[in-house]
Amino acid sequence: MRQKVVVDLEDCIGCGTCRSLCPKVFALRGDPRKCLVKDPSGDPECVEFAMSMCPTEAIIWQKD
Ligand code: SF4
Repeated sequence: MRQKVVVDLEDCIGCGTCRSLCPKVFALRGDPRKCLVKDPSGDPECVEFAMSMCPTEAIIWQKD
């Protein structure tokens, strides 16, 4: 079973930490700013680190 990274936009506060840590996976968009997952299967190690640093724990793995 594969997993992909998703962001709970209810919880995301648009701080930009995830984009700073994993620019190939995460971006920001909108007003107010919210995280956009550009590459849901990209760089799991980097995603794990971004998860640990997200202030609202909005980044989660989702099983396919
Ligand atoms: S680190 Fe968390 S709260 Fe900050 S932009 Fe990324 S998903 Fe949103």
